[in-house]
Amino acid sequence: METIVDQLKNKIENSKRIVVIGHVSPDGDTIGSGLALTLGLEKKYRDKKIEFILQDDIPKNISFLKETKKIKKVEDAGLNYDLAIFVDSATRERVGTANEIVEDAFIVNIDHHISNPYYGDLNIVNSEISSTSELMYSIIEKLGIDIDLEMAEALYLGLINDTGNFTHSNVKPNTFKIAAKLMEIGVNNNKIVNEFFKSKSYQRIKILGKALNDMEFNKEKKLTYFYLPYNFLKEINGTKDDTEGVVEELLNYSESEVSLFLREEKDGKIKGSMRSKKDKDVNKIASIFGGGGHIKAAGFTSKLSAEKIIEKVIENL
Ligand code: AMP
Ligand code: MN
Ligand code: MN
Repeated sequence: METIVDQLKNKIENSKRIVVIGHVSPDGDTIGSGLALTLGLEKKYRDKKIEFILQDDIPKNISFLKETKKIKKVEDAGLNYDLAIFVDSATRERVGTANEIVEDAFIVNIDHHISNPYYGDLNIVNSEISSTSELMYSIIEKLGIDIDLEMAEALYLGLINDTGNFTHSNVKPNTFKIAAKLMEIGVNNNKIVNEFFKSKSYQRIKILGKALNDMEFNKEKKLTYFYLPYNFLKEINGTKDDTEGVVEELLNYSESEVSLFLREEKDGKIKGSMRSKKDKDVNKIASIFGGGGHIKAAGFTSKLSAEKIIEKVIENL
């Protein structure tokens, strides 16, 4: 019987120009899964043109993956792709302006978000899996492509990104099995953890300090929350990458079951991030603001004020 990966393989074999696309504000999972797929396709299909496109820049703590230099911005993309493979993108909108280069392409959607509406012409979506990178390992294997060290490091980065270095509830036996196989290929766990987690900028440490100092707690809903105005970011010359990890830190408080981090963007819109460590479903809360993600980790962008968002979150928790 033809499996879904066989269908993907057929599509790849019948395409000449293929583009892999990750989400805006790219993280280790979208970059890791996309890069591993791109490198694998390049190795196996030397006659095809394969590109990896992102709307936004690569975070500093991910550029240690040497092959990220291959990744192009939307402005530098070619046109007339036959096939577009979206990775780790819960919706089509999540890839931002990269949508504009694939209007006529066949769309493949490879993802693990529970809120994914199956927007592709072919959908390989499994919300039971820790990360798109864990899913990508098995796809690459089924495509008959050998995983080399560069690909293995990329996939490993995706695993540690989405599992919080193997601490979240999305870690399953298979996650460790894949991690072990990647280490057998040569991945140096300690090196990647140092590059990715233990390499925070000065601004990032300062923002974390402010968040821990100024956070508030709603006792009734067991919610810890913190709002970062754009001015603060500007004052210390920080970027949105410097705010990564704040929402997880807020959840470390023993009384807290759910955390909310709000960051004002340059245009005044608010980017929200939520995490949950018991049974509260933050995908549901994020969907109120048009966002989504997973039950225990979700995000959204809203035009409402921070006060209004906090009020709505508390009301709906
Ligand atoms: P974040 O809080 O941005 O780290 O996102 C947490 C999870 O929710 C990640 O898996 C994101 O990919 C996902 N996510 C974030 N923002 C959105 C959004 N606007 N729509 C759908 N999923 C999102
Ligand atoms: Mn992601
Ligand atoms: Mn992911």
